[in-house]
Amino acid sequence: MGDRRRTSSIHDGLTLADMVRIGVKAYAACNYCQRQQAIDLPALIARVGPDFSLFNRRNKPCKLTAGCFGYTYFATDRWGGIITPFRDDAHGHRWMLEAIGERQARQEAEQARRRDDHAPS
Ligand SMILES: [Zn+2]
Repeated sequence: MGDRRRTSSIHDGLTLADMVRIGVKAYAACNYCQRQQAIDLPALIARVGPDFSLFNRRNKPCKLTAGCFGYTYFATDRWGGIITPFRDDAHGHRWMLEAIGERQARQEAEQARRRDDHAPS
């Protein structure tokens, strides 16, 4: 676990209150439809409290586009205005592998459905 220290940073533990205090903006973004939406931090704090953190969290399914089967992850501009995912490398890697697996499963289901459509009855 010695590697963890290299990829983690003081920004990783930011709570919603920390973000407001230091002026970091948060965004919800989808891994599939690619939509991105700024988060109203004061409104979110009113719902979940100031100590909540968006780090390493995601929501399924995506709510940014109706019917989208992607997931929403969170991003911030904590690195000087560049919007980057708010998660560590281990979570990013696991989520990416999951997304690839889900896409393959959808494609296989679609292929099976097409085969059934063309099958003689
Ligand atoms: Zn989406």
